[in-house]
Amino acid sequence: MPVNDTITDPDRPDSEALPINELFHSIQGEGRLAGVASVFVRTSGCNLRCWFCDSYHTSWEPVHAQRSLDAIVSEIQSYSAADHVVLTGGEPLVHAESVTLLERLEELGYHTTVETNGTIHREAPIDLLSISPKLASSTPTPQKDPTGSGEWADRHEKRRVDPDTLAALVDTYEFQLKFVVTDAGDLPEIERIVDRVRSAARTTIADSDVLLMPEGTTREAIDERRNEVAQLALDNGYRYTPRLHVDLWNDAPGT
Ligand code: SF4
Repeated sequence: MPVNDTITDPDRPDSEALPINELFHSIQGEGRLAGVASVFVRTSGCNLRCWFCDSYHTSWEPVHAQRSLDAIVSEIQSYSAADHVVLTGGEPLVHAESVTLLERLEELGYHTTVETNGTIHREAPIDLLSISPKLASSTPTPQKDPTGSGEWADRHEKRRVDPDTLAALVDTYEFQLKFVVTDAGDLPEIERIVDRVRSAARTTIADSDVLLMPEGTTREAIDERRNEVAQLALDNGYRYTPRLHVDLWNDAPGT
């Protein structure tokens, strides 16, 4: 349970707000905290456009409904059994207000995970930064673009990996590097990215800090890739991460 249960501070302006796609209580399905009950705050808006994005209404068709930070914190506190909060997206670090929300959650004693694509660095109180660099296989070529236009392909490709920002993030935060793997063809690029970040960062990146996760938002898609990705992790000393929420609830919203 959070140590401090203060909800609002009268000195804080009401205008502080974030675009929120959904807020729900569920089980963290991925990464080193897989299985931990958590409140998920999903912001809308992203600076990338992965063709397989599992939160379409935060990237390809972002919702713009703003919620005040007071309302967000109040709803988080309504899940009285939860002491972990996952700030996800979209890309939550495109919003400066995410820092303010994280500061408020720190004051309230929550453990926070931020799920990011690793292209933006902000200083914020974050307990675990789950960095998911996007591989070439994520690029929305005209054949894969869900809108069919292919107009995001160049922008996505130019932005998706920035080794200096990734190095700054691993130097600043407790982290995990989580890669969404489509097939074994992704492995050489994963190794190149990890090598470049290792060269640029002061922090040691152990192989066990590198997580491989099967691409897929349905049980059928995960079933197709699970064993191949687990074998890749086994063969290379990396960590395999499941997607427990897909195993449990398939692709239901709010999970
Ligand atoms: S970085 Fe994440 S939120 Fe943004 S498009 Fe890719 S999968 Fe979706």
